[in-house]
Amino acid sequence: MDIFGNTDPKLMPGHFFWSAIHLKHDSAIPADISKQNFSVCPRHWYLDADFKCATCHQEFTWTAGEQKAWFEEYHFWIDAFPVHCRKCRAVTRHLQRLRKEYDSTVAAAKTGGRLDQKRRMVDILRELKINLGSLPEGMNETMELLQRQIANISELNSEGTSS
Ligand SMILES: [Zn+2]
Repeated sequence: MDIFGNTDPKLMPGHFFWSAIHLKHDSAIPADISKQNFSVCPRHWYLDADFKCATCHQEFTWTAGEQKAWFEEYHFWIDAFPVHCRKCRAVTRHLQRLRKEYDSTVAAAKTGGRLDQKRRMVDILRELKINLGSLPEGMNETMELLQRQIANISELNSEGTSS
């Protein structure tokens, strides 16, 4: 008797791959369910599965090997599946890192006198703006403030060297 597809990958419950466009059953990898994080229904097999990315709408493959890592090494919840392709996930992580750096540094950059810090904040804001399309009003104001400060400091410095 088959339980949740333990004898045949084709009998696995559909919800594990419900948004997949295409599944490859013949290259299925058997799972070690003792390493999985599940309550009732484990994944007995990992299957190469094609999805459409929610951001760029390109098709991408979530490989059986990736699934083994997700569920047996990182212990992701068993119903998890990717919504975004690898490239879009990398972009998101990059933007999150920039946002974190911005949040932790912007107050010091605004009040302090360090030119490199102010320039770095402006660079981050520009990159966020390009990727997100627009910025919240407060961030636009901060960018203008920092650019004014940079211009003022640069002017002071050039006066200092010419005299
Ligand atoms: Zn994508």
